[in-house]
Amino acid sequence: MAPKQLIVFDFDWSMADQDTDRWIFEVLAPDLRRKMKDLKDEIQWTDLVAQSLRELHGRGGTRQQIEDALRIMPFHPAMVRGVTALKANTSKADTSFLCLSNSNSVFISTILEDKNLQTLFTEIVTNPAEFQSDGLLKLRRRVDPDGPQHSCQIGCSPNMCKGEELDAFLERHGKAFDRIVYVGDGGNDFCPILRMRSTDIVFCRNFRGLQKRIEQEGKSKGLKCQVQYWLGAWEVEQMFENLTPIA
Ligand SMILES: [Mg+2]
Ligand SMILES: [Zn+2]
Repeated sequence: MAPKQLIVFDFDWSMADQDTDRWIFEVLAPDLRRKMKDLKDEIQWTDLVAQSLRELHGRGGTRQQIEDALRIMPFHPAMVRGVTALKANTSKADTSFLCLSNSNSVFISTILEDKNLQTLFTEIVTNPAEFQSDGLLKLRRRVDPDGPQHSCQIGCSPNMCKGEELDAFLERHGKAFDRIVYVGDGGNDFCPILRMRSTDIVFCRNFRGLQKRIEQEGKSKGLKCQVQYWLGAWEVEQMFENLTPIA
């Protein structure tokens, strides 16, 4: 039986070459984008995006406009090639994909469908969202603010702990993966990679929050996995090609 490998993808600035939450307002309502920047330290981010979506809807913003903005968001063709080739190449390993994102289910699925990647992921773990019949995109935190909260000590946002979500996914799938490769860029990708083994690898995008946390806290927090750095998606494509066979 071929070894099993899991590729975990953060979405914004990792799989995609932009940040979905910010992009749609930059395209459709720059004044709301400014307001989000001003309020981001006062209001939890998912709640702030939900509030901004309500304001956009209130001034006549449509579902079509949101979907069109998502489809023109930067997304590198090398990323499409890289993940498609890795999934198809079963000679070295049997590869599954998991998405762990603080964006939301509508933003992610709209973009994946546009790139013909809608069947890539086994699971997409993110904040739930849906368009109401009146066109409002209703967004909620993955962890309901009125229910029990996650217990993360590493600094994940209240809406979701990516580390706990990775553990829960592995639990659901019988911890059957011989290697995990995590592709991420942000400070909130630090928690899940702390749970990875020395045989696992993080593909860390350079010059962003994750790189800083690896440098500043990696040693003291006991980071065990290997780290490989990249800047453009074309490099991720090559890093997938160059993955060594699983021992
Ligand atoms: Mg990100
Ligand atoms: Zn966490």
